[in-house]
Amino acid sequence: MRIAVIGGGPAGLAFAATARLSGLSAEVTVYERNRVEDTYGFGVILPSAALDTLRPTDPDTADALAGELVEWDEVTVHRGERPLSVGAPRLGALSRRTLLTALRRRCAELGVRVEEGAAAPGPDALAEAHDLVVAADGAGSATRTAWADRFGTETERTAPDYVWLGAERAFPGLTFLVADTAEGPVVAHTYPYAPDRSTFLVEVPGGGGLPDTAGLARLFAEPLAGARLLENRSRWSRFLQVRNTAWSHRNVVLLGDAAHTAHYSIGSGTRLALDDATALAGALCSEGSLPAALSAYEERRRPAVEHTQRIGRASADWFAGLAGTEGSAPEKFLLELLTRGGRISLGDLAAEAAGTAPVGTVTGSG
Ligand SMILES: Cc1cc2nc3c(=O)[nH]c(=O)nc-3n(C[C@H](O)[C@H](O)[C@H](O)COP(=O)(O)OP(=O)(O)OC[C@H]3O[C@@H](n4cnc5c(N)ncnc54)[C@H](O)[C@@H]3O)c2cc1C
Repeated sequence: MRIAVIGGGPAGLAFAATARLSGLSAEVTVYERNRVEDTYGFGVILPSAALDTLRPTDPDTADALAGELVEWDEVTVHRGERPLSVGAPRLGALSRRTLLTALRRRCAELGVRVEEGAAAPGPDALAEAHDLVVAADGAGSATRTAWADRFGTETERTAPDYVWLGAERAFPGLTFLVADTAEGPVVAHTYPYAPDRSTFLVEVPGGGGLPDTAGLARLFAEPLAGARLLENRSRWSRFLQVRNTAWSHRNVVLLGDAAHTAHYSIGSGTRLALDDATALAGALCSEGSLPAALSAYEERRRPAVEHTQRIGRASADWFAGLAGTEGSAPEKFLLELLTRGGRISLGDLAAEAAGTAPVGTVTGSG
C-alpha cells in the first residue's frame, strides 16, 4: 500500500509512525512544508492519559513524551488584588516543538520518508499516485478547502481575538490573569511547559483595541514579575471552528484539525489529533477494504470529537461572555471557569468541599 500524508504536525506524524508499527504493509511518505524549528506556537496542554492512545503500539514514544510533561493540579486566577487557587484534575503540557521532534525522530527510525521544506503536491495528483492520501494539513487545510463540497465543510471564525505568546517564566499551573481595562477585560491563559517557560495566550473578550506585545507586557507586568513575553509567528487572530459532514472522499481522508477543531481554551486539539491517528491506523489494519476502514475510522472518532467540540463551544462562549464583567469577584470567575464546559459540576465542587472529590478547595494567597 502506498500512503501519502500531507502535513507533519502531531496528526500526520503520529499516524505515519503508528501505521508502520501496526504491521500495515505500507510505504508512507509525509510532506511537511516547515522545518520543526519553524513550527508555530509554544507549549500545548496534553494530559498524560492522552499518551495512552500511543502506548499500546509505541510505548517508547509515549514514555519519552510523558517524561517531557510539566504537570500541575491546581488552577489560579489573578483578578484584582490577590491570586486565588483551587485544586483541579491533573494536567500537563509540553512544547509543541519537543512533541514534533520526538514524533519526527520516531518516523525516521521506522523508515517513514519525510519530504520537508516544500508544500505537498495537490490532492488530485497525490490521490492518483497513492492508494491513500491522509490530509493532516491543519485547521486551514488546503486539501479540505479544495474539496470542500465533497467533505461538506463548514468553517466559522469566532470572536474574540486572541494571540498565542510565550512567557520566560514557569507559572505554577494553569493560571488565568485578568486585567480589567477601560475597554473591558483582557484575559491571559497561561501554563508552564518547561522549567522556565509558559504558554501565554491572550484574548480580548470585549473587542476594542488589540495591544501589541509590549503593551501586554505592561498590562500584565505584576504577574509577569519581570519575565519577558515571547513571540513565535504570533499574530492576533480568531479561532477557526471546522466541521465536516464527511471525513473522507474516495481515497482521501481528513485527520486532526483538517477534519475538526475544538476551541483552544479546553486544550484538546493535540489529543484529538493523536486519537485520530491511532484510530485510522487501527482501522486500516483491522478492516478488509479501504472504504470499510475509512468508514470505521470516522464512526469510531466522530462521537468523541463532537462531544469535545460541544465542550469547546461552551467554553468559548463563556470566555466571550466575560465582556462587561469588569470588577467582578475572582471567586465567581473561578467557580464559573471550572464548571463552564460541563465536565465538572457544582455537585463535584460540593463533594470536594465535603472532602470526597479531588477538585474545588479554594485558597487565597498573596
Ligand atoms: C492558540 C492555540 C492554542 C492551542 N493550544 C492547545 C493546547 O494547549 N492543547 C492542545 O491539545 N491543542 C492546542 N491547540 C490545538 C493544536 O495545536 C492542534 O489541534 C493540533 O496541532 C492539531 O494537529 P494537526 O497535526 O492536525 O495540525 P497542525 O499541528 O496544524 O499540523 C499541520 C501541519 O501541516 C503542515 N502543512 C499544511 N499545509 C501543508 C502543505 N500544503 N504541504 C505540506 N505541509 C503542510 C503545516 O506546516 C503543519 O505542520 C491550540 C491551537 C491554537 C490555535
